[in-house]
Amino acid sequence: MPRKSGRESFLRKKKVTEVEISDDIKAVRARLRQERSQGKTIGFVPTMGALHKAHAQLIKRAVSENDFSVVSIFVNPTQFGPDEDFKTYPGDFDADTALCDSAAVDTVFHPSVETLYKEDESTRVVVSGITDTMCGKTRPGHFEGVATIVSKLFNIIEPHRVYLGQKDYQQFRVIERMVKDLDFDIELVMCPTEREDDGLAVSSRNRYLDDKERKQSAYIYKALKKGKEMILAGERDAGAVSRKITEIITGNIDAQGIDYAGVFDAYTLKPVGEIKKDIVLAAAVRLGRARLIDNTIVEVS
Ligand code: AMP
Repeated sequence: MPRKSGRESFLRKKKVTEVEISDDIKAVRARLRQERSQGKTIGFVPTMGALHKAHAQLIKRAVSENDFSVVSIFVNPTQFGPDEDFKTYPGDFDADTALCDSAAVDTVFHPSVETLYKEDESTRVVVSGITDTMCGKTRPGHFEGVATIVSKLFNIIEPHRVYLGQKDYQQFRVIERMVKDLDFDIELVMCPTEREDDGLAVSSRNRYLDDKERKQSAYIYKALKKGKEMILAGERDAGAVSRKITEIITGNIDAQGIDYAGVFDAYTLKPVGEIKKDIVLAAAVRLGRARLIDNTIVEVS
């Protein structure tokens, strides 16, 4: 008899699973402690909703690699700057829960802002150093908001494994630093960047692009891939690689600005001069209403 495909076993699991939805910290904590006390592993995917195929990939792994899976849907106000899109961030809770349900997620945690941020709250988690570069430079306070909400969610969910996307590479490294420094007993899993057919990294914010911007946006990844090719062909001058990436982006995209485009150490995220160790090529481009980020890792050591 042929073996069941991953998809089939996924669907099979769905038949015995109805996703539970909770907005209550105590209820979720109690539920998860009960599961944990039975020796079950908890897989967790933090999201801001508006779920798409990249989220689905993370969720699928969390479901298949753990006994119990949790997805949080929470648009976190503290990680948005005053001129950013917090108030207009896309979302469709019914579609999101339907996706979680069909992926056999066990629990969706969907708290309100008031539930997670008490009126008299005055605590923030600050990860320094690694946040002084890349997005940390142009989005002041962003990673403080991210580290704060992620540590709160980790304390509530107490997951064994957390699934994060490579697309938000700096976010992964910041959370990794925080997990080490604050002794969270959690394994972080980096999932590959999910892309559209033309290479654009899938993002909830891609819907902000009009047709022309959407076509142009594919050049961000094309530029990063060209930079990777140069390094794999032996180029070691990060300046030459950064210039080529910038040239491709500015030559093909009517961007309002390039926040950064260049070569960074894969772990410290410091800008690199000579390429001697593993690096990440990364860019953040403002195009129309969207700010698009992308990256690719190059192993050279
Ligand atoms: P968000 O809802 O945008 O905060 O993203 C939730 C999680 O999904 C984060 O770990 C992101 O890195 C991940 N994610 C978002 N877009 C992608 C993508 N295109 N590929 C892989 N992971 C992604």
